[in-house]
Amino acid sequence: HADAAMYEAKQEGRNNFQFYSSALTADTQQQNSIEQTLKLALNTNSLQLFYQPIVDINTCKLMSVEALLRIKNSELGPEQFVPVAEASGLINPIGRWVLKEAARQSAAWTANGLPAIPIAVNVSAVEFRHREFVDRFEQLIHEHSLEPALLELELTETAVIHNREHAIASLSRLRALGITVSLDDFGTGQSSLASLNGLPLDKIKIDKSLISKLKTNPDSRAITDAMLTLGLSRELQVIAEGTETSAALDYVQSRGFTQAQGFFFCEPLLGEAFESWYLARVNSEKRLNNEQQI
Ligand code: C2E
Ligand code: MG
Ligand code: MG
Ligand code: MG
Repeated sequence: HADAAMYEAKQEGRNNFQFYSSALTADTQQQNSIEQTLKLALNTNSLQLFYQPIVDINTCKLMSVEALLRIKNSELGPEQFVPVAEASGLINPIGRWVLKEAARQSAAWTANGLPAIPIAVNVSAVEFRHREFVDRFEQLIHEHSLEPALLELELTETAVIHNREHAIASLSRLRALGITVSLDDFGTGQSSLASLNGLPLDKIKIDKSLISKLKTNPDSRAITDAMLTLGLSRELQVIAEGTETSAALDYVQSRGFTQAQGFFFCEPLLGEAFESWYLARVNSEKRLNNEQQI
């Protein structure tokens, strides 16, 4: 709650900030230190993207990879530093860096003989809500020679809640450019099924907190099934995040999910490690096919 209060205070302006600050000194110090770490990482090229496969649930074919941000040699994860980046405005240069780095990696993979693999990038609500977000995004895509068909954009509901009309217009424009749009972490926060209504989307990603409770919690199961039914009726891809075990995969497959992502397939990997993972997989498939032919 302290985080939320501070975030709101910052949103409202520095004048109100002092009102909250006395109770939050320790917290503020921590936020400041994270902000400094982020600035340093941006200036010393110490941000990194890890990539995690997203696969077709029935064939296990690789469909795309999600780019996940890290700070080199830091214990801080995005759950800790993304909120600070958002509150401080650093999320804007960071978001630009992510796109540039994804473009570089995509070109490097292709140069090394991998097929073109769509990359999903996470975009913060703070970036997305900006009036000129789509214009800037389009400009960056051209600048970095990114193929829109190979780009997916993951947004959470916070991005679309505040100004729904603007959000719908922006999503439509992104999709018209050929970019795939996913609603991330669906089923958390204030999400309601009705919020999907009228949103131009390609995919919904059901949050890992729901997926992990599917077997044991009837409420999670009922909520997930309702989201799944709605998603499938809208002909959206529905992705099970946090698929950790083969039992979990069997289960989400039986419920009707179309894609899955999680530690069972692969943890997030650096670009080169992902390349090895991919090649090892292709080779083992080839071996299997040869054995079947013999
Ligand atoms: P997300 O977009 O929902 O990403 C999925 C998170 O689930 C990632 O956490 C991933 O490492 C984790 N995960 C994947 N498979 C499993 C699994 O089987 N079990 C469990 N328990 N976890 C799994 P990560 O990398 O810590 O990222 C956390 C969040 O930070 C992301 O959630 C996303 O909202 C945000 N984030 C990450 N990178 C970026 C970025 O470049 N920009 C922005 N704006 N946000 C980012
Ligand atoms: Mg995501
Ligand atoms: Mg997610
Ligand atoms: Mg998440």
